Amino acid sequence: MIPYGRQSIDDDDVAAVVAVLRGDRITQGPAVERFEDALRAVTGARHAIAFASGTAALHGAMWAAGIGPGDTVATSPLSFHASASCARYVGASVRFVDVDPDTLNLDVGAVPECDALVAVHYAGLPVDLAALARRPRVVVEDAAHALGATTPDGPVGNCARSDMCVFSFHPVKTVTTGEGGAVTTNSDGLAERLRRFRSHGIRPAPEHGGWAYDIDELGHNFRITDLQCALGTSQLAKLERFVTRRNELAARYRALLADAPLELPPAAPPGWRHAYHLFPVRVADRRRVYEAMHAAGIGVQVHYVPIYRLTAYARLGHRPADFPGTERAYAGLLSLPLFPGLTEADQDAVVARLRCLTGADT
Ligand SMILES: *Cc1c(COP(=O)(O)O)cnc(C)c1O
Repeated sequence: MIPYGRQSIDDDDVAAVVAVLRGDRITQGPAVERFEDALRAVTGARHAIAFASGTAALHGAMWAAGIGPGDTVATSPLSFHASASCARYVGASVRFVDVDPDTLNLDVGAVPECDALVAVHYAGLPVDLAALARRPRVVVEDAAHALGATTPDGPVGNCARSDMCVFSFHPVKTVTTGEGGAVTTNSDGLAERLRRFRSHGIRPAPEHGGWAYDIDELGHNFRITDLQCALGTSQLAKLERFVTRRNELAARYRALLADAPLELPPAAPPGWRHAYHLFPVRVADRRRVYEAMHAAGIGVQVHYVPIYRLTAYARLGHRPADFPGTERAYAGLLSLPLFPGLTEADQDAVVARLRCLTGADT
């Protein structure tokens, strides 16, 4: 089966993990700080705080910003549930913003009055935060797809137009730590709260003895291990190569499918770089195409079932009819295999099957 995404692990990645495994600290040691330093270097942010997952990092971002009961958080419904559920984890409510058909990102002109915005860079194309009609108190970027993307403001993650930017290091994402995530920020205060939330809410209290600590607000154990961070640091050294290869493969898909009866994904505007976590085309009769591709050993995927369609959201009164742009997109979405290790021969096989199934070559 050709998967839609997968990690690229080399011998040097393996060696980096083994070296930590043979050392003294396998969690809460120096490899975590080294990974955070490497993240600061690639994004240009003042702080990077690594978490156990992207979901934990989003949860931490909401908590650090003081979002809670009575607050409203706006986000895109065309995302993984965590983009919205992070608001509910801290007791806030969610307002979905329909997607713009030209970008498949939330419509920056339609963001309602709200306390926080979680701007999801869908497929790796950054949301144009400079075009926000209204800037809420807190702006968080969900950049799980967008490590390595750039805008005219610089690399995604530098927080030029946001308070915090969240990444995921799940194996299908741009670089991996197995499971893992991070928040970048330029705020010293948010960084302190993020670190405290990641580790139970603990504050050391050395004035009462070397052993003493206090917890006033509860956090979680959302820490990442040194084993994972050693892998992450080794992977980050390859970020440019990975993103360049994803862009080359995406350009190749565009050329090979240019005349096929399907819609290609939105491209990055001049001066921007797409991270191409996903290559989501839109086809007619998606279910038939999905099943035939899987039968042929090609693991296409659908990103995403709109979050308002999930029972945990539909129960709260979110309705598909309120999001016609998202519904139109969802009806045809199909993510084609795209990852740095995808061979051109495999890509050609994907294209041949897709052209046949969509009637491009009849
Ligand atoms: C992967 C992903 C997450 C969650 O990250 P995990 O590391 O899997 O918890 C959040 N938002 C988006 C858009 C994602 O794609």
